[in-house]
Amino acid sequence: MIEIENLRKVYDNKYEALKSINLTINNSELVCLLGPSGCGKTTILNIIAGLLDPTSGDIKFDGKSIIGMHPKDRDIGLVFQNYALYPHMSVIDNIMFPLVVGSNKLPKAEAKKRAQEYMKITKIESLEDKKPGTMSGGQQQRVAITRALVQNPKILLLDEPLSNLDARLRLQIREEIRSLVKRINITTIFVTHDQEEALSISDRIVLMDQGIVQQFDRPQNLYLEPANLFVAKFMGNPIINTFEMLKQDNTLVSQDFSLDLKKFDKDRFKCDLDGDKFIVGIRPEYFVLSHTPLFKTKVTVKELIGKDCILNFEVNNQAAKIIVDTNSNIEEGQELAISVEYENIYLFNLEGKRIY
Ligand code: ATP
Repeated sequence: MIEIENLRKVYDNKYEALKSINLTINNSELVCLLGPSGCGKTTILNIIAGLLDPTSGDIKFDGKSIIGMHPKDRDIGLVFQNYALYPHMSVIDNIMFPLVVGSNKLPKAEAKKRAQEYMKITKIESLEDKKPGTMSGGQQQRVAITRALVQNPKILLLDEPLSNLDARLRLQIREEIRSLVKRINITTIFVTHDQEEALSISDRIVLMDQGIVQQFDRPQNLYLEPANLFVAKFMGNPIINTFEMLKQDNTLVSQDFSLDLKKFDKDRFKCDLDGDKFIVGIRPEYFVLSHTPLFKTKVTVKELIGKDCILNFEVNNQAAKIIVDTNSNIEEGQELAISVEYENIYLFNLEGKRIY
């Protein structure tokens, strides 16, 4: 188990990159650190790896603090975005390298045998004699992961490992990584800024913004039960539609449509509706075409994404999107009559706190 307690990092220029992070990661869990550029993902990973010292706070592996411990003694395998392979060495020599250096080094024959065992697990036996420069990005990343695993670490840390790969290969390698780490049962922390990648491979996701954990939860909960407006906007593609609305008695009012507060489920309110302005969030997939619409508008742009298509329109003088079945054959310029089920509406206050 990895316990991160009140972890803070203030860089030399006084920038506070981490503001009291608390996380508990269970053994064998695959956790993604997710968030926009600069939110502090790599800072956390580097502190766990021992490449960076925290300003305060603690990190424990199985109850024992590792702060101050040398990176080599932390039992961690680290994989970087740029693979960091030695270009003049063959694949097998790259993978054996961590086994034949340092104080606990193995005899060469034993190291080679171990490297070959792991190459079987990661299915790269055929690359044994190749040099990194002659391999594709995907192959190099598999070698880098094998080199991290060959030391049989307790924890695997991956920093944006798929960033340099093309879109299709990213999909393939991310599935491979998930199935590999689950097969060998290793606790894994995977840094990414790609919400779709995090949703597809994680047991749980840590979504961060500006050095703060916004939500640490199972993927479906981040999507369906976002803790706040930041989470609702970060998860999901296309982005959730948001509308500022005014509360007037029992109605939320905006220029082009209103919502009846009596139709909201009372039990789902997380707190009182204090104030008069609120942000209403409706995901594009939760708008529906209806004979009893909330509002009527026109399709401005149609984007085909396969079975479904995204229809762009304007409401309240702002751009919005709805996802419909491609078979509905709606074209640009056509009228849209749009409604929403009340159970699929999110409500936030102006500070972004989730109310409903
Ligand atoms: P990215 O996805 O772009 O790699 P990240 O979420 O991994 O971003 P970090 O690299 O952890 O973000 O950086 C967090 C914040 O700390 C950023 O605002 C960054 O500019 C700042 N930062 C990182 N390293 C230093 C440093 N050595 N000195 C000062 N500020 C730093």
